[in-house]
Amino acid sequence: MYTITSVLQILSAEHYVLADGGLAISELVYDSRKISNVEEGLFFAIKGSRDGHQFISDAYEKGIRSFVISDVDFSTSPYPDANFIWVGDALKAIQALAAFHRMQFTIPVIGITGSNGKTIVKEWLHQLLTSEHNLYQSPKSYNSQLGVALSVWNLRADHTLAIIEAGISRPGEMEALRKMIDPSIGILTNIGTAHMEGFASKSDKLDEKWKLFKNTPQILFPSSYVPDTENIYNGFTWGTKESDDFQILNISTEHTETKITARYQQENLDFVIPFQDKASIENVITCIVVMIQLGYDFTIIQERIKGLKPLEMRLQLKRGKNNCSIIDDTYSNDLASLQIALDFLNQQNQHTQKSLILSGFVDAQSTDKIMDKLIHLLNNQLLKRVVLIDRSLFGIITAINSEVLCYESTAELIADLSRINFNNETILIKGARKFHLEEVSQLLVEKSHDTVMEINLKAIESNLMRYRSLLQKDVKLMAMVKAFSYGSGSFEVANVLQFNKLDYLTVAFVDEGVELRKAGVTLPIMVLSPHEGTFGDILSYHLEPEIYSKRILNAFLQFLADRQIKDYPIHIKLDTGMHRLGFMKNELDDALTTLQKSPQVKVVSVFSHLVASADTAQKEFTAHQIQEFKRLAGALESVLEYPVLKHICNTTGIVNWPDAQMDMVRLGIGLYGIDLSDNGLHLEPVSAVKTTISQIKQLNAAETVGYDRKGVLKRDSHIATVKIGYADGYDRRLGNGIGKMMIAGQIVPTIGNVCMDMCMLDITDIIANEGDEVIVFPDLIQTAKDIGTIPYELLVGISSRVKRVYFYE
Ligand SMILES: *Cc1c(COP(=O)(O)O)cnc(C)c1O
Repeated sequence: MYTITSVLQILSAEHYVLADGGLAISELVYDSRKISNVEEGLFFAIKGSRDGHQFISDAYEKGIRSFVISDVDFSTSPYPDANFIWVGDALKAIQALAAFHRMQFTIPVIGITGSNGKTIVKEWLHQLLTSEHNLYQSPKSYNSQLGVALSVWNLRADHTLAIIEAGISRPGEMEALRKMIDPSIGILTNIGTAHMEGFASKSDKLDEKWKLFKNTPQILFPSSYVPDTENIYNGFTWGTKESDDFQILNISTEHTETKITARYQQENLDFVIPFQDKASIENVITCIVVMIQLGYDFTIIQERIKGLKPLEMRLQLKRGKNNCSIIDDTYSNDLASLQIALDFLNQQNQHTQKSLILSGFVDAQSTDKIMDKLIHLLNNQLLKRVVLIDRSLFGIITAINSEVLCYESTAELIADLSRINFNNETILIKGARKFHLEEVSQLLVEKSHDTVMEINLKAIESNLMRYRSLLQKDVKLMAMVKAFSYGSGSFEVANVLQFNKLDYLTVAFVDEGVELRKAGVTLPIMVLSPHEGTFGDILSYHLEPEIYSKRILNAFLQFLADRQIKDYPIHIKLDTGMHRLGFMKNELDDALTTLQKSPQVKVVSVFSHLVASADTAQKEFTAHQIQEFKRLAGALESVLEYPVLKHICNTTGIVNWPDAQMDMVRLGIGLYGIDLSDNGLHLEPVSAVKTTISQIKQLNAAETVGYDRKGVLKRDSHIATVKIGYADGYDRRLGNGIGKMMIAGQIVPTIGNVCMDMCMLDITDIIANEGDEVIVFPDLIQTAKDIGTIPYELLVGISSRVKRVYFYE
């Protein structure tokens, strides 16, 4: 139990103001939008992509009374009843507090690092060890400098074993994580090329990761990833070498199973696992050696390994029946992951009504203290309805402010499901794996056409952060969500952007803006191509038009004058070379004279569009555009006599022309994970179109495939038919081997002409089965090049009948 005074001592801070030194502290808060326990919250003003100091007042308004800050001086404090502790760096302070907390425990703490597989190994160990242990695992991907601090903070006295993940991307980052985790057992999963950015070589990366194990007595790792350098990398190794402590003798795969034969202490052991892919096999072996280290009997290890379940651990957003949205998170349940899921629910504004279906927690987590926290968490959410499954939760019923329904089991809920009137709302389904709430989710979700476009909302968020980090000080950010957010879906994406406090959204047409408003988006929205017939909607939905010509200016002014409206926000578009929409320089004077005597409008921004910001051969032209824009925008500002936001950069402009970021930038394609600047930005892929194999045929050489007999076979072949055609947006030019798809990691060409709803693939060189998943565009940028177009066209061309499935991981 900590108080603000004990925190003060732990941080050895010298400068502080305490209004109430006895205030209890149980929750560490770094984001004023994510607070579950206001009374016992301690806010850290961390300087990340945003400066946390900006959100002190927001946190204060929500009820937080304790703050760790670094640079604001409140000598005349506007917050007389709050506690303030000044430190050099709030991130270091939260880490110091976590490290102190860690020292209070003597239980085994497993620290896990590596390039891939960390989360899976962590989850599997949870499945494997949960019958003996009250196991704590760091939630989802809380593995960063801040994430680890928050994870470690959640360690409690009743845990008997902890698994904490450490992720680094740059040299020098591990030491801080080591101090917080201080593992007694260390696991290295592997070393890959992922996240290579900050490192000169693979061995540099290994050295950095190894720092996690500085004081760790037991270190487990696969020898194949670690060079044989005597005395540097010591520990328990597994691999195919005779010198390995756990030596793999044979791996054989058949159907859906893999048999692993290994030698350990002169004994041969067999393990059968329900997976075949290399990554899973590697991860399972890591789990086996951990269990050996923890002293488990081989028969128990064998039995439990056999029953491992693959993880569908992505929180998914799906379209439900009766115009509902379903957030499906049915593989784990504890307070931390519930909080993440509730944050996500909160950020989805497409429906005002929200419901939660919640299972019991896993064993030993239903203490009174946890139940109190749960009540607090739920009552903070404005939920319309809470559906509880399992007796362990029944104690909280009377304390919940929303309508509550309760069931003893999932089966009981299913039997009653048709009587609950889920309608026009967002439903979060959150439950531990053993409750099988996926069965409930299946019943509530609208049946899908088999071809889907998966959109990773978390990746959009990361890409946003990436570009934010490239912005100069105080530059505002406008996101382009035109054309259904480049094909990714409007309100789902807009909600994420709004949650991340963007400054502006931009759509192409008024209809798109209206749809966003109806879904609850409140950010300012600019409309690129307004026309007279839509002025009514512009007003009713508070949209802000781009004014690009004398004609549209006069029409809009007249429209506003007729309604006696003043100061309506507009954006003036200048044409500096694109020659699409916008005032030419010789038209500007005239427009300014009009604006000067038109109180109906207020010019919020003036902007222009770069023609070739990605093309280095056009540098001179771009420089000229920027210069011309600055001159014209300056003229406009001096005539209007008030400040106006100036902006010209699109995605590649932000990167290639940083000095032209001015007051705001307009981020488009980069947000959706496509980097056309050749700058190695390491964006995260956002969307993936996936389909499945409907049928496989064995055909002889000289037969043909598809319309017009274009697919001529030169050898005996295996041909797979997949459910995507040109009506779905799979361009007909991709037929006859131009298009490539991916099945189980292997690339296969199309054969024959693309049909309207289907096309065929030549899978002769690989092993595949009917029903297998197919990735339609393994390399979007290359595919676009192959048919002489750009990724933008392929993305927005995916037709609306391809269902968008959202997830956030
Ligand atoms: C689409 C668009 C952008 C964004 O362009 P990207 O290349 O996708 O970043 C910026 N400004 C205007 C006016 C646009 O139409």
